Amino acid sequence: MYQIRCLFFDLPSLFPEFEWTRILASIRALMKPENGISRAGPRQLRVNEPGCETGGVEHPWRALTIGNNTACQGGMKMRDVRRTVPERRRMTQTLPDAATVDLFIIGGGINGTGIARDAQGRGLSVALAEMNDLASATSSASTKLFHGGLRYLEFFEVGLVRKALIERETLLSAMPHISWPMRFVLPYSPDMRFEGETPTSRLLNLFMPWMKGRRPAWLIRFGLFLYDNLGGRKYLPGTRTLNLRTAPEGGPIQERFAKAFEYSDCWVEDARLVVLNARDAEQRGARIMTRTKVVSAHREEGRWHVTVERDGAQEVIVARALVNAGGPWVEEVIRNAIRINSSEGVRLVRGSHIVTKRLYDHDKAYFFQGEDGRIIFAIPYETDFTLIGTTDKDHGGDPSRPAVCTQEEADYLRAFASNYFRKPVTREDVVWTYSGVRPLYDDGAKSATAATRDYVLSLDAGPATDGGVGSEPPLLNVFGGKITTYRKLAEQGFARLRPFFPQAGGDWTAGVALPGGDFPVDGVARLTEKLTVAHPWLDDYWAGRLIRAYGTEAMTVLGNAGSAADLGQGFGGTLTEREVRWLMDREYARTAEDVVWRRSKLGLRMSADEIALLDQWMTAQTGAENF
Ligand SMILES: Cc1cc2nc3c(=O)[nH]c(=O)nc-3n(C[C@H](O)[C@H](O)[C@H](O)COP(=O)(O)OP(=O)(O)OC[C@H]3O[C@@H](n4cnc5c(N)ncnc54)[C@H](O)[C@@H]3O)c2cc1C
Repeated sequence: MYQIRCLFFDLPSLFPEFEWTRILASIRALMKPENGISRAGPRQLRVNEPGCETGGVEHPWRALTIGNNTACQGGMKMRDVRRTVPERRRMTQTLPDAATVDLFIIGGGINGTGIARDAQGRGLSVALAEMNDLASATSSASTKLFHGGLRYLEFFEVGLVRKALIERETLLSAMPHISWPMRFVLPYSPDMRFEGETPTSRLLNLFMPWMKGRRPAWLIRFGLFLYDNLGGRKYLPGTRTLNLRTAPEGGPIQERFAKAFEYSDCWVEDARLVVLNARDAEQRGARIMTRTKVVSAHREEGRWHVTVERDGAQEVIVARALVNAGGPWVEEVIRNAIRINSSEGVRLVRGSHIVTKRLYDHDKAYFFQGEDGRIIFAIPYETDFTLIGTTDKDHGGDPSRPAVCTQEEADYLRAFASNYFRKPVTREDVVWTYSGVRPLYDDGAKSATAATRDYVLSLDAGPATDGGVGSEPPLLNVFGGKITTYRKLAEQGFARLRPFFPQAGGDWTAGVALPGGDFPVDGVARLTEKLTVAHPWLDDYWAGRLIRAYGTEAMTVLGNAGSAADLGQGFGGTLTEREVRWLMDREYARTAEDVVWRRSKLGLRMSADEIALLDQWMTAQTGAENF
């Protein structure tokens, strides 16, 4: 109703002259039968769009209200339109090309969704297209750490480490359900070596050649001192030294390791982080389109014209600025979709993990150094498992080549860990593997390990005008980055775009809770107890899993269910119809894979038959709901 009121009573102040011309042209174009709007009624493109209530009636001009979303709000006010995803999806859109948004984002990984949330919250109108599922590429395949990256200190990446260290606690307080502090035990051995080409190893070789590339204990301790003190710490305890002969953490470790250092970092559910950023952006008014590929984008009359394709149908969206957060595809998008000349490139580095049955009983992770200069982690995972990773291998030029953990990589990780654990890790222990591709900025480093992990934001906006602003609609390309720095990257990305949106709001995301994260950092136990008091039929695992996934929203997911039977069909691994419906309605899930490998890791607990049944059930629902 608000949109309609805007249209009818406040038209002159809402739409500038230029937009009127475009709107009328668009309506004329739409009336042509080939564009699908005829007297017989509108063609229905199934794309979701927030914020326009039409009572289910599809109006050709409805997209105009999106197109002028910002103006309709009288400038840069935030919107607070909160609807479920199916509600929005059912409001199918009819205009193929009239929608003008401030910012169009390519890519639904952590960087794309983080930028979408940040920009929408500043009052911009935002649309995001992801060609597959959210977090279907690198952002669900990380080691899942909010960390400074201890080993990057050896590459003198102090700025990156400091940025990430400071960020850990900011993120923790905004999402205490999907992230939590973790202690890391680093057993010391005098045999462990640096990677040959780190600046630190070169310095040490110069001044202490007798060390022959080995890392001395004092250097590790010094690194940890820096790690403790470079970024502020409020919740996370500092480093301590352990005697592995007496400490319980020494139990699973071979006797030859007598000493260890223990330090803090944080865990995060990476794919859930992406989905929650997308949800938050959408609740604030952004348009999130999954399974929607950007096939081309070009500049025309001072705007970007972005062609997206979904289910075989194409749509053109007009935007004032374009962000390319295509991750491993960032270079391909520049060359093949946007077709501009650029000397910047991306280096694809594959990292693989293995997941084994739980290898030890406590809740701390291990940081193992290898004789080849590399490091790996062994981390408690999904209650009953241990996650071991990663490798670092160049992945060649084609980002679409599936990233899989080869047998050689799995064996390498097993051997590496077996060098530390008393009980060797066997092939039979491995229950799952996964692999992801790091889209690193190509800085010409010799080895994959040495390539910079920091992000690079590059702005293409043509020659500067008198006012110092670029003369063409801006394109921001995002190279590299870490899960840990996504929020900072979004802020800094916007700082680059600020001259084009001078009225936009200031930085706002620090510490602002993501959906379900509005409770204290140490509040998980209390929240779990509250859930089990309300639903005494939940066992500890089930209640804990729901709180870790949905935080304060777990109560809403379960609603007034008085027993497990009230949650509808069970799919295995404590997954029920009620939860799947939530994931489909609110979290963009469309397939069983979205649910069991990204929104959750229940794939580790469900059989192939159970997953297939879930897939069939979801397909049937999708048809019924007109997804
Ligand atoms: C093995 C490994 C371990 C890691 N561990 C950590 C860690 O512990 N901590 C940490 O902080 N960081 C870690 N990282 C780094 C982190 O995972 C990545 O930097 C981050 O996920 C990159 O996010 P992104 O959004 O740039 O890319 P992606 O997540 O890959 O997202 C890009 C998206 O763009 C989409 N896309 C591409 N082209 C198009 C198009 N034409 N139209 C529509 N959509 C398109 C893709 O489908 C994809 O979903 C790790 C990375 C790897 C590989």
